[in-house]
Amino acid sequence: MKSVIIIGSGISGLTCAIRCAEYGVRVLLVSPHPSERSQSVMAAGGINGVLPNGEEGDSVASHILLWLN
Ligand SMILES: Cc1cc2nc3c(=O)[nH]c(=O)nc-3n(C[C@H](O)[C@H](O)[C@H](O)COP(=O)(O)OP(=O)(O)OC[C@H]3O[C@@H](n4cnc5c(N)ncnc54)[C@H](O)[C@@H]3O)c2cc1C
Repeated sequence: MKSVIIIGSGISGLTCAIRCAEYGVRVLLVSPHPSERSQSVMAAGGINGVLPNGEEGDSVASHILLWLN
């Protein structure tokens, strides 16, 4: 069985851990603080992200443009 070490238990680390587990990969999650203290918990407006099969026109570039304007 393969093993990975993931640093950080915010949304990135936890998502990666879940995906790894789905593929049967053993996970060691390392974080100096509990998930409840990560920035991910402060995202009161909901987390924005680009999905591989998301809406037409949705892209990393469009998110950056929104942020710049
Ligand atoms: C107040 C606030 C409001 C926000 N609102 C929104 C919003 O409405 N919508 C949105 O999309 N985004 C929002 N964001 C941004 C969003 O929260 C972050 O982009 C997102 O949570 C990042 O997730 P992450 O897992 O990469 O990082 P984090 O959630 O920050 O997790 C990082 C993890 O790494 C760990 N870590 C940190 N340093 C080290 C180290 N040196 N060694 C080991 N581990 C370490 C931390 O303990 C934590 O577990 C907001 C951010 C803040 C601060």
